Amino acid sequence: MNAELKIGIFGGSFDPVHLGHLLVAQAAVEELGLDRIFFIPAAQSPFKPETKPAPAAVRLQLLRLALAGKTNCEIDDQEIRRGGISYTVDTLCDYAKRFPNAKLFYLLGADNAAKLTAWREPAALAQLAEFVAVPRPGGAPAVFPLPFRGRTLNGYPLAVSSSEIRARVQAGRTIDHLVPPAVAEAIWGSRIYV
Ligand code: ATP
Repeated sequence: MNAELKIGIFGGSFDPVHLGHLLVAQAAVEELGLDRIFFIPAAQSPFKPETKPAPAAVRLQLLRLALAGKTNCEIDDQEIRRGGISYTVDTLCDYAKRFPNAKLFYLLGADNAAKLTAWREPAALAQLAEFVAVPRPGGAPAVFPLPFRGRTLNGYPLAVSSSEIRARVQAGRTIDHLVPPAVAEAIWGSRIYV
């Protein structure tokens, strides 16, 4: 029997990738039974206009290190290649074309769910995927505004953020147990956030 392919799509700045991101992916694979999950780093988030992220090549390299050996996790650099501000609706249209028979799940932190109507072309966006919120400690429970279809996972709530990692590196504090060891080593080696 040909079961429907289930694909998770996980966008973000990944500046840098951290264990909170990896646990989002792990929860989604376990709780949704995903076959494949794509990490899609943004060239520039429309919601962080004042923050220029670290160079794309570095963020991609850190993602490669974080995902090494995880066979169901892939990196898609289409938003980096498109350049400019990255809009999820463009990326989801591409997935809908490439995987017309798959079920698409868009993964996001619960903090982002209530803001979905502020994303570009919300009506089209809502048709393209089911939205899946993963809890973040200290954040409110996910609320999906109409017309979004969404569900919330149990996840493994972990209070880590990329901004905290960057601040810790700048302050010379450890980032052990917040990012994978190979990512920590590369961050310190490249002096990217110092
Ligand atoms: P920053 O601190 O720079 O704002 P971030 O840690 O939120 O970054 P992003 O790359 O912007 O990281 O996040 C990508 C997606 O992952 C977003 O939907 C965000 O809500 C979610 N996310 C990030 N960290 C966590 C976490 N610890 N738990 C659950 N979801 C998370």
